[in-house]
Amino acid sequence: MKKFAVFGNPIAQSLSPTIHEMFAKSCAEEINYEKIEAPLDDFETTITHFFAAPQTVGCNVTVPFKERAFGMAMHKDDAVKMAKAANTLMLNSDGELCAYNTDGIGLVADLTNNGLNLKGTTVLLLGAGGAARGVIHPLVNAGIEQLHILNRTIAKAQDIADDANNPKVEAVSQQQLAAHYDVVINSTSASLSGNLPDVPDSLLATCKLAYDMVYAKDNGATVFMAHAQKLGAGQQLDGLGMLVEQAAAAFYIWTGKQPATANVIEYLRNC
Ligand code: NDP
Repeated sequence: MKKFAVFGNPIAQSLSPTIHEMFAKSCAEEINYEKIEAPLDDFETTITHFFAAPQTVGCNVTVPFKERAFGMAMHKDDAVKMAKAANTLMLNSDGELCAYNTDGIGLVADLTNNGLNLKGTTVLLLGAGGAARGVIHPLVNAGIEQLHILNRTIAKAQDIADDANNPKVEAVSQQQLAAHYDVVINSTSASLSGNLPDVPDSLLATCKLAYDMVYAKDNGATVFMAHAQKLGAGQQLDGLGMLVEQAAAAFYIWTGKQPATANVIEYLRNC
């Protein structure tokens, strides 16, 4: 049986085993997918042991190990190089560790599934952590016209824009914000603590879509989504679809099979 896992600390909350087991069933794959809490001081050894087992195919990595997973890999694709953080690992045929970041593919797939054509759109990205870094390349590749990054700590947004090295991607201060964006994406972790990132109401009131990467509990709305809805944003979405789509991209990397996702998203929304 093919062996997979997700590594994090803590990890009890992870939905990844449920998601990948549903994918495997729909793709006629037999898998064993575990949650593993890696010790904070021994992540690298834990990963090395995991990949030493002959049935191991790959793993996901979550907070707080994504940067360390990136550091361990010999081979890195463009998205993971930009993110400097890996959420997916596997060995190539020479037994060398390869790192990927599928968060951005997941975000773009979820936006597209929800009827948004990103071509020519203007996007405001709130936050400049690992999740923000991971979505820059896929958003640019999806044909957006302009991507502004606004973060509480401006220097971190500037670092991302410098690394992106693309005229469409700019770090902005509150004073440099445009008057309108088609899409506002909240990649801050503020919603987790019930807080709102500092963004002018007028931008949320006039955007076509306000997207929160955090996912809503009990089928409700995050504070960011509720705020945007109250102000009149065209549509609000949480990050559950992104979570399932980034998992689907990882599953494809490991197996070459593209799993169906809509039924998984619906199942997680209702369970
Ligand atoms: P990081 O810790 O790397 O970055 C957090 C970011 O949030 C920083 O830019 C930080 O600002 C900002 N921030 C935190 N609290 C506040 C606040 N109260 N007000 C304004 N800004 C705030 O986290 P990640 O980038 O890895 O993840 C961010 C979020 O995205 C998490 O909630 C995570 O769950 C979610 N996520 C969802 C995914 C999905 O599939 N749906 C995938 C990946 C992440 P500063 O730099 O100033 O500290």
